[in-house]
Amino acid sequence: MFAANGSMTSLKDMPAEIIDMICHGVTLEDIANLQESNPELDRAIDFVFFPRFTKMRIMMDANGSTLTVSPRSAHSLLGKSSFSIPFDSPKSQQIIRACTAVDSITISVSDHAHHFRILEAINRSGIAVTKLVVNFYTPKDCAECKVITTRDKGCRGLMNRAHRKITTFVREQSKTLTKLKVSTSEEDSISVELRPADGASTSSESRVIYSHAADSALNQSLINPIFTAFNLGKASGPGSVHLTVDWRSRLDLALQGAFMVALPIGHRGGVNKMRIGFSSKVSSLSHDEIHSCLEAFSDQLSETRRLKELICDFKSSQIDPHLLDKTVSVLSKQLVFAGTESHRIRMLFDAPIIEEPNRIKQEWAALPKVY
Ligand SMILES: [Zn+2]
Repeated sequence: MFAANGSMTSLKDMPAEIIDMICHGVTLEDIANLQESNPELDRAIDFVFFPRFTKMRIMMDANGSTLTVSPRSAHSLLGKSSFSIPFDSPKSQQIIRACTAVDSITISVSDHAHHFRILEAINRSGIAVTKLVVNFYTPKDCAECKVITTRDKGCRGLMNRAHRKITTFVREQSKTLTKLKVSTSEEDSISVELRPADGASTSSESRVIYSHAADSALNQSLINPIFTAFNLGKASGPGSVHLTVDWRSRLDLALQGAFMVALPIGHRGGVNKMRIGFSSKVSSLSHDEIHSCLEAFSDQLSETRRLKELICDFKSSQIDPHLLDKTVSVLSKQLVFAGTESHRIRMLFDAPIIEEPNRIKQEWAALPKVY
């Protein structure tokens, strides 16, 4: 590696371990400087150092953005768990372009963030995200947020801008995204995971965990647009849907919200199996409350023409299963109206399973179908 006079003859002869050790001892800015200093070193660092980074974390607030990269397993780094660089740094875009192995991004975004160029830089870099977690938060130290006045729209305007920019990012990444989790507070979150068809199951499955308070303004500015953007890149809807509803204030709205996340309009025609699970809070609901919630939900089934099986899991509930016979009838009737040829509805309790009575099936089979 060194010639007789002591000078380095070729940087490409330097062992990979040495390059790796040098990179671990300096900042990302310095690594970028090293790469610029020599084309061989540039290629060697791209080959040795950057491919291990699969996770990226982005912090965005009123002051700007910072990105941190880390490997899938922290053990592979020589005593260092991650590397960070402010997006303001002239080297940040070069670093983003080098991190081609990143497939998982977590974004913590303040409602008051107003620098979003980092998202455009990621889209331009060729990074293809499969898992995205977005945590929206309101900064604790904003004086305007503390003073609620009717004329002041400053902070809300900023918040909506953050919602739009993140939604655009999700749309750009929607072809590869299979997991998306959005949190709007420590208690409120919604996640969706799309599992492709594989050897174990013949159809793709969408799994949604909905644990969010009802908020129509937030639905309009963020929740509906961002999950619509997620589904946009998918050619068709899932064959199977698994909803888990852990509602905050109103079960009926949470259930409808979860359904919308899993099956936006246009993605409902192909679903053949749906399972709805309720959190343990369901034990606090009366039979009447459960009935009216599912009755309201039945309207959503008008486009699920191929839904063969609907399972409602009430394992945490103490109510008498037979009290839901009427509920089963309402749901079944809606499926007949939707044009579903044959279907079954199951209500799961700790008590024995009740199934749709044949009598009702025959009764409704005689009803005219509405298309
Ligand atoms: Zn504010």
